[in-house]
Amino acid sequence: MLLFVGLLVFAAADVVYALQVNANTYVRGTPLAAAWAIGLALLALWVDGMERTHPAAVSETSPATGRAALMVPVVATAAGLGVLLVSSRVPLSTLSVALAGATLVAATARTQVAFRQVAWMAHLRRMASATDDLTGLPNRRALHVEGHTRLADPERCRQSLLMLDLDKFKEVNDSLGHHAGDQLLVQVGARLREHLRPGDLLARLGGDEFAVLLEDAGHTEAIDVTVKLRAALAEPFALEDITLHTSVSVGIALFPDHGLDLSSLLRTADIAMYKAKTSGRGQHVYNTADDTDATTRLKTVEELRTALTTDQLVVHYQPKIDLDSGEVRNVEALVRWDHPTRGLLYPDAFLALVEESGLMRTLTRVVLQVALDQAAVWHAEGRPLTVAVNLSGSTMIDISLPDEVAAMLTVRNLPPGALQLEITEEFLMADRDRARNILTRLRSSGVQISIDDFGTGYSSLSYLRDLPLDELKLDRSFVFPMVDDARAAALVASTIGLAHSLGLRLVAEGVETKAAYTELVRLGCDQAQGYYMSRPVPAAELDLWLSARDVAHELTEMTGLLPTLD
Ligand code: C2E
Ligand code: CA
Ligand code: CA
Repeated sequence: MLLFVGLLVFAAADVVYALQVNANTYVRGTPLAAAWAIGLALLALWVDGMERTHPAAVSETSPATGRAALMVPVVATAAGLGVLLVSSRVPLSTLSVALAGATLVAATARTQVAFRQVAWMAHLRRMASATDDLTGLPNRRALHVEGHTRLADPERCRQSLLMLDLDKFKEVNDSLGHHAGDQLLVQVGARLREHLRPGDLLARLGGDEFAVLLEDAGHTEAIDVTVKLRAALAEPFALEDITLHTSVSVGIALFPDHGLDLSSLLRTADIAMYKAKTSGRGQHVYNTADDTDATTRLKTVEELRTALTTDQLVVHYQPKIDLDSGEVRNVEALVRWDHPTRGLLYPDAFLALVEESGLMRTLTRVVLQVALDQAAVWHAEGRPLTVAVNLSGSTMIDISLPDEVAAMLTVRNLPPGALQLEITEEFLMADRDRARNILTRLRSSGVQISIDDFGTGYSSLSYLRDLPLDELKLDRSFVFPMVDDARAAALVASTIGLAHSLGLRLVAEGVETKAAYTELVRLGCDQAQGYYMSRPVPAAELDLWLSARDVAHELTEMTGLLPTLD
């Protein structure tokens, strides 16, 4: 209303003025002059009201309106100057001259204030666009701007760029949620900052990637800092409701050896970082051979993604034989990659990459689906085999797993006992409470839990007391030497005793010879798995093997001979 009436009064006064001038009847100093003043006053009141009711809108004015605001004092200044100039030729009233002078002074003061405001706003805007919202660290853009300046400075001849990437961060995000992921990133940022010198430039590039431009640092210094930072991040992080261990892979590029500008240093550090990840060493200084490695790796990750969605992953099954009856009630599902050009690949060739590229969750789901589909077929055929699926250590934090597993069993109409999960001791390492939670939920739904590669882990045995378990699988490194080495045999015997005293089943893996098989039967081991009985084979082949075995079994029962395997 104020704006509208103000403009109306102003326009009306102008129209009257124009008519009077035209009719030559205009006289100065009539109430008409007051109409302009009243119009202006109404406009001023409108602006004032705006500022009170919408302070945010006014303070968030864009640079364009900020500059437009400057027009008012500028025009006032010009008008004041004009009056003063005119007064030097035409005699004007002292009051007009004094007012014009005062306008000039006030406008100058106001202009200065306005300029300062505009400059401050621009500064804030620059700051905001250079800072990462989550961690408050400089962002990629700031790294580029500041990095450019530093690299161009002839005084600073030795600099190093570190590229840091958290290991398995995607799993944290997927399993614990983005909130936990964010908390972790904030703490990682703070911890990195703590261990750097004030002159080092730390930036968050996005996601779980950080970069550090080290001042005055060559090869040796860069490695020293890297070792220090990796040690700092190896300490546990306390998030709201969980303690988390993380690790970081670091790629190092040196200036000027590996690049003359920030973009090429970032690229080379990135390649070195991937090398650090895949080699499992955690840190790596760039060298030219990395270029080809990086290309191959990227290609393989892409192929893996395709493989996971296009049935290229196949599952082979290896039987676990009950040693007392010779029956087969359990099989282990082992994944293979039927690669379009490289042939059948074994887990050794691709599992590490699956883990690194954050695809383990997907792989576990695919294997579970395939294995349970197969179990459903066997059940329908009257062969109620239990399939054992391997879970990687990183699955430990996957709290949605028990529900998903239950749903997978239900849709296939399978009893929970049709599934067994094999986990390694590593699975229990990172967060015991969470592991216990997941395992308890799985087991109370009826799924069996087995500790794989038993004896190779370095965690304490105390988990045997407080975790819900069904089976221990003694690692093959204990089974191989059993026949020739009395101490190894004693270890196997006592592990069987240990398992039994805890009410657990003991399975021996890597049974390659008849001698080992016979010895395990003698020692009272529950089940055996190994090449001696069968290699892991496709389901159809296992069916043939099982049928042949059934026939052999019936024959031996008929002839009263003991079952033999040769
Ligand atoms: P694992 O769980 O210890 O599986 C047993 C491995 O021992 C299999 O290797 C199997 O082929 C091999 N093996 C069986 N009998 C014998 C024997 O008599 N002698 C010897 N020397 N080896 C024998 P494979 O299939 O290459 O799998 C290697 C590892 O990859 C597995 O070790 C497991 O840790 C992992 N893995 C396999 N499938 C999956 C999967 O679906 N998910 C996950 N997360 N890991 C998997
Ligand atoms: Ca296994
Ligand atoms: Ca094993």
